[in-house]
Amino acid sequence: MNGLTDLLPTQGDFMKKTLGYAAVDKHSPLAPFSFEQRELRPTDVQIEILYCGVCHSDIHQVRNEWGTAVYPMVPGHEIVGKVSSVGAGVNRYQVGDKVGVGCMVDSCRVCPDCQDHLEQYCNQTTYTYNSLDKHTGGITYGGYAKQIIVDQDFVLRVSDKLELAAVAPLLCAGITTYSPLRHWQVGKGDKVGIVGLGGLGHMGLKFAHALGAHVVLFTTSPGKAEDAKRLGADEVVISKNDGEMQAHLASFDFILNTVAAPHNLDAYTALLKRDGTLCLVGLPDQPHPSPSIGNLIFKRRNIAGSLIGGLQETQEMLDFCAEHAITSDIELIPIQQINEAYGRMLSNDVKYRFVIDLASLS
Ligand code: NAP
Ligand code: ZN
Ligand code: ZN
Repeated sequence: MNGLTDLLPTQGDFMKKTLGYAAVDKHSPLAPFSFEQRELRPTDVQIEILYCGVCHSDIHQVRNEWGTAVYPMVPGHEIVGKVSSVGAGVNRYQVGDKVGVGCMVDSCRVCPDCQDHLEQYCNQTTYTYNSLDKHTGGITYGGYAKQIIVDQDFVLRVSDKLELAAVAPLLCAGITTYSPLRHWQVGKGDKVGIVGLGGLGHMGLKFAHALGAHVVLFTTSPGKAEDAKRLGADEVVISKNDGEMQAHLASFDFILNTVAAPHNLDAYTALLKRDGTLCLVGLPDQPHPSPSIGNLIFKRRNIAGSLIGGLQETQEMLDFCAEHAITSDIELIPIQQINEAYGRMLSNDVKYRFVIDLASLS
């Protein structure tokens, strides 16, 4: 015992209160929730959240469709805001800077994945919400809140050139589509398919178009065809129409599938050229009823998956967006409409990302 110093709280014991919206179980609507955040550590950045996008993953998580939910849960991993305070050792950000936070707030920093700037594939990634915070032993809370505290290495710089609310969805929907398009080197001369026109799909169209590919949108919603062309599609295929699908047999270099529900993948592998790749980013709660092995081996086709993107690539994507004036098409909502927004996403009624205006939360 050192006397009085043992009785004084350590820096980590000082907590800050903030307000958010949380799910308390998988059935109840999200509701206001007050919670505590850690005091700033030396390399922490405190961010006043201005906008947060609403990802379909938030619905999967809130409803415990992936079986890992911890309640109360404050979702949200498409965060943009302004730096409101910095720890003593922060050297990359200043109070007032516009910044973003995506799906991760920490990782082990030393494994081969982290060293390759692929923190999303680290076995010890700390996700922005519903994840164990190894420093506090608590559970992380996300962007449906007034404030978040994040280590500077997991904070991204946002350009002044872009409308901030429309930047928020880039932090997940943007990087999740940009990363596979880059990894599989999509570019001029490639025929690329995007499956599903929702939050991810509409960003996939914009990026594939900006990278110079010939882009085909596959949709179950005929009413989205006009929008798809405006967003970057050269052609639109109604995926329920066999004739339209057959017209594209064995012709694609790459297909990015963003669908959030189980469906027959064979319909898409059949459309790939020899050596083509169907990359899955949608993460439904039930398995797909496929694939057919014959579809794969007779043309050496690939089925792959991809998870968000690392910090370095996310910054590259944000810079690419600033250079090419790319943002998300959003519908801005007050946080009080979040439960209605979830309902509309589940009935495919969103053009093309809801973004919460956190000024509505007080
Ligand atoms: P979203 O905005 O709800 O869009 C999903 C789209 O899928 C819908 O707009 C719809 O497009 C299509 N769709 C929905 N139900 C369908 C069905 N039964 N059959 C065929 N198509 C259907 O969702 P999102 O936010 O883009 O997220 C999509 C998925 O990606 C989710 O599972 C999410 O968890 C996952 N995700 C993965 C990552 C990753 O790193 N891999 C990152 C973020 C999100 P049409 O109307 O055009 O058919
Ligand atoms: Zn997401
Ligand atoms: Zn690691």
